[in-house]
Amino acid sequence: MIDPIIRDRAALRAMVTPWKRAGETIGVVPTMGALHDGHLSLVAAAKAACDRVIVTIFVNPKQFNNAQDLANYPRTEEADARKLERFDVDAIWVPDGDQMYPEGFATTVSISGLTDCLCGATRPGHFDGVATVVSKLFLQTGADKAFFGEKDFQQLQVVTRMAADLDIPVEVVGCPTIREEDGLAMSSRNLLLSDRARVYAPVLNAVMENVAAALREGAAMADLLPDAMKRLERAGFTDVDYLELRATDGLALLERAEVPARLFAAAWLAGVRLIDNIAV
Ligand code: AMP
Repeated sequence: MIDPIIRDRAALRAMVTPWKRAGETIGVVPTMGALHDGHLSLVAAAKAACDRVIVTIFVNPKQFNNAQDLANYPRTEEADARKLERFDVDAIWVPDGDQMYPEGFATTVSISGLTDCLCGATRPGHFDGVATVVSKLFLQTGADKAFFGEKDFQQLQVVTRMAADLDIPVEVVGCPTIREEDGLAMSSRNLLLSDRARVYAPVLNAVMENVAAALREGAAMADLLPDAMKRLERAGFTDVDYLELRATDGLALLERAEVPARLFAAAWLAGVRLIDNIAV
């Protein structure tokens, strides 16, 4: 059976209130739709940990810094609802822009420090948009637990910080990145890749794995970057927004993996921006 699709804030509130009163734990899985197995792994984790699960689908205009990117973002609501059927979730929350940002909406949630680097530096305003919508989703759903992918590791850190700073009583749970067999991190944006670009897209992860292996042996980023950039260029990547080693905790830039660290990359392939990160 297709799970109930809720499009109205009042209807969502009416649904959630008795669950809260009965002391049931509510899990939320925020997404922008075009669901793939990465999203579905979060839904499975939520189902295993919570009495009630709400999946949200909202392509949040506030987190796009590029109008064309927003226009191109894949929207596949019917297929998404079908993919969720086997999980038997309690609600699919699909607000439209007016439900989320009614006329007069004037609040922005902004996190400093963590958002200065990586996607925060290359996509101005992105994390303000994320934090604003995610804080609303937490309050709308009354979630006790919220499930986010390590695929967007900086986002996971930002949302964790925000919930702690604002005393939102939700536990943010990070879940591992799900990949295609060839190593490409699953992403809704992969749907936008041409057949030819799809062939070369896994080079990003392959290059990162090579760099990470050398870092584990004690190598320095400065010595590894020229070759890594050349390999990405040869595979057709045009702009590399970043390929950086950063501390897992706090995201400080590193030259060598002397503390627990992750390698982060964002790069453009045939007009599509791909991101990935792996533990070093
Ligand atoms: P999005 O729809 O891209 O905004 O992603 C919604 C949620 O799914 C975020 O928490 C993402 O980190 C997570 N997610 C996206 N891709 C993957 C993946 N390949 N593996 C695990 N989680 C993912």
